[in-house]
Amino acid sequence: VDGAIQADVVIVGAGPCGLFQIFELGLLGIRAHIIDSLKHPGGQCSELYPEKPIYDIPALPVCGAQELVDRLLQQAKPFNAQFHLGEEVVELRILEDHTFLLRTSQDTRFHARTVIIAGGLGSFQPRRLGVEGGEAFEGTRIHYKVKSAAEFTGKRLVIFGGGDSALDWTLEFAGKARSVTLVHRRPEFRAAPASVSRMRDLVEHGSIKYVEAIAQSVIATDGQFQGVRVKRNDGEIVDLEADHALVFFGLHPKLGPIAEWGLNIDKRAILVDTEKFQTNIPGVFAIGDINTYPGKKKLILSGFHEAALAAFAVAHHLNPAKKVPLQYTTTSPIMHKRLGVP
Ligand code: FAD
Repeated sequence: VDGAIQADVVIVGAGPCGLFQIFELGLLGIRAHIIDSLKHPGGQCSELYPEKPIYDIPALPVCGAQELVDRLLQQAKPFNAQFHLGEEVVELRILEDHTFLLRTSQDTRFHARTVIIAGGLGSFQPRRLGVEGGEAFEGTRIHYKVKSAAEFTGKRLVIFGGGDSALDWTLEFAGKARSVTLVHRRPEFRAAPASVSRMRDLVEHGSIKYVEAIAQSVIATDGQFQGVRVKRNDGEIVDLEADHALVFFGLHPKLGPIAEWGLNIDKRAILVDTEKFQTNIPGVFAIGDINTYPGKKKLILSGFHEAALAAFAVAHHLNPAKKVPLQYTTTSPIMHKRLGVP
């Protein structure tokens, strides 16, 4: 397959289970490529609750969610997996010889002999503005990320949201954009207190505007974007004229393209067996929150167990003639070598 990265195994998803999968494969001498649509590893732990303590990781009475991710990365380090972050896997194709072609949103292609899907609840997508007439302007006038700040310099901006992204960009564009109006639905912000007080200072000095409201519809004349109509908390409808709307409502996971790969799916989860955690497609495995089987519990420790067995199954799939014996990390010289234990 021309131009594709050749891989024994590609892991889709770098949440806690995908990260532990690198480790379990590494112990068996298999090097992985791992892809995540987020720009950082850690899945739900890093994206949804990095500061929260977890109490049910074996032998760690308490462990911060981001700390767990950092520890998993450290543990997997000797195995030198290649990370491809900020890329969503959009396509999985079975080739005639039963190998696989994966393609990402950045058009990176992988020719893989096996695939392990560790996609959790799906890939994280920005929450949409979700107003009448909005869809037509997404990507041109309504934005969920800032690709290049220069695009918005000197423009009239309306910024939606009450978290760090909304506040950071409000502060960044104050003085650089022609005008900035921040819109948030309630008086409480989920952002660094220092940013919130700086924002309030700017409002007080008249450098930017702040409106407590929710978006209602896009204002457009002759198909041209004119701004956003909002409903203020006191019930009044206000038209906010703008060249661009920047929307920072956070990210939520969506099963996304995985649903279209011909896998047997039950209630948004991929059906697997509990011997190999293999899907209905031989050579494609699924571990962690994305899979389901009788008795499945969506817990990190379940995903860890699944990763261990899937690694053995991948080893067998890659080399059916070779028996993969169980070895202990305590005593196996070959595992010590792989781990770099002196
Ligand atoms: P995820 O963490 O969801 O990671 C999946 C990754 O795959 C994501 O980064 C996603 O971007 C990526 N992905 C998906 N599709 C694609 C694609 N097509 N292309 C590229 N990348 C893709 N569990 C516990 O055991 N104990 C707890 O105390 C606990 N507390 C929790 C508290 C909260 C608030 C939440 C939300 C969850 C909690 N959980 C807890 C659940 C735990 O976080 C999940 O079980 C765990 O994150 C699942 O790991 P995963 O690797 O399977 O998936």
